[in-house]
Amino acid sequence: MIQLDDRLLALRAQVREWGADFRALGLALDRDPELIREHFDLPAVRYLSTMGIPPEYGNVPIPIAGNRFYGTLALERAIIMEELSCADVGMLVASPGPLLAGVLIDLLADEQQKDWFYGRMLESPLWTFFALTEPDRGSDAGALSTTVVPATADRPALLSGAKRYVGNAARAQLGVVFARTSPGPLGINAVLVENPSTGFHAEALETIGLRGARISAITMDEVEIPPERFLGRHLSPSRRGMWAFVQTFNLLRPGVAAIALGIARAAHEYVITHRTSLRRDECDRLDLLARRIDGARRLVHLAAAAVDARTGDGYLASAAKVRAAQLAHDATQEACTFFGAGARLEHPVLDKLVRDARGMEFIEGTSNMQKLNLFQGLFTGKLDREDPFRTAPLAAV
Ligand SMILES: Cc1cc2nc3c(=O)[nH]c(=O)nc-3n(C[C@H](O)[C@H](O)[C@H](O)COP(=O)(O)OP(=O)(O)OC[C@H]3O[C@@H](n4cnc5c(N)ncnc54)[C@H](O)[C@@H]3O)c2cc1C
Repeated sequence: MIQLDDRLLALRAQVREWGADFRALGLALDRDPELIREHFDLPAVRYLSTMGIPPEYGNVPIPIAGNRFYGTLALERAIIMEELSCADVGMLVASPGPLLAGVLIDLLADEQQKDWFYGRMLESPLWTFFALTEPDRGSDAGALSTTVVPATADRPALLSGAKRYVGNAARAQLGVVFARTSPGPLGINAVLVENPSTGFHAEALETIGLRGARISAITMDEVEIPPERFLGRHLSPSRRGMWAFVQTFNLLRPGVAAIALGIARAAHEYVITHRTSLRRDECDRLDLLARRIDGARRLVHLAAAAVDARTGDGYLASAAKVRAAQLAHDATQEACTFFGAGARLEHPVLDKLVRDARGMEFIEGTSNMQKLNLFQGLFTGKLDREDPFRTAPLAAV
């Protein structure tokens, strides 16, 4: 089991306090996701806008109990994500910052690319996007068909294709797009793209949940990609395509599981706050939910420590994502049963929690895909059947 040390407990307490702003603004942002533009000065938004940028690139986050948390570790991110999504997940996913793209940059970019990307993120709060999913290929990401035709003597490389369900793309100023230069897994590349760029178009899709994320559809028609925008150009093809996005998702998945966990906890806390007297059977049901939330948190923290110790170790992260996504669904449904038949009409916060929880099944891979990944881990012996929850060495955290 992972015990949070004093440093991480202080982080949790501070982010919990920051969350009060998110909770107050959540419903308004759900009605108008662009409202976030008026709240760049909130401490949590300011923190998220540079979270994940390593200190050597000039990131100086607000000190918390004498420590600086750069958000470069999955365990730190899991703590932050749980607290902020428990406050309001819409505000969390609407906030600008390097998040998904930043993890890929950290893993894959060369020094010059890092300087450029992080430098821009430190100048002013910017949204970024991470475009992998395509209209007909979500889970089967390896079959993506967006192309980047390599440069010739008389023209630059050209990016063409379509992406879908990409968080924040419509309002982002820069992001990464996965595209292939040739068939097969080694032909996949990640390229940095600025918005606006000629031939690049992104528009937000109408959604009923996680509306803060402004998930978007992108079309790209011969967008010019200069050679310095090919991520990992200093690495071999086997290190910059499929490998890169698998490692990136391993690192991100505990954070996504923590978001689902935060939604579940928000539903549980909503019942405790708004139902002051409970029958015996209702107390039992709430206790059971609290135990499931605690159990899922332990799994999320274990999974985060495992990927922090070794980025290839994403099997527990898959287990955590499945467990937490199911919990978010169950907890939000269960919370409604405490308020009678009209619960969702009479309690807009609960209604929003139910809608937001639905997205957790799909974001960062569906439960079926996580279970397949987990099975691979067990089948190949990479996850110890006898001791699947062995603690990753905390020294690395
Ligand atoms: C809120 C939100 C934010 C998102 N943000 C981003 C983002 O920023 N960038 C990005 O690139 N994408 C993003 N996505 C997309 C997300 O990653 C995809 O929705 C997800 O990968 C599933 O793909 P799909 O929707 O095409 O479903 P499909 O892959 O078509 O799957 C449909 C169903 O079939 C099942 N299925 C598919 N293949 C198999 C199989 N082999 N075995 C068993 N079952 C299978 C799935 O489990 C699922 O239930 C986001 C999605 C959401 C909801």
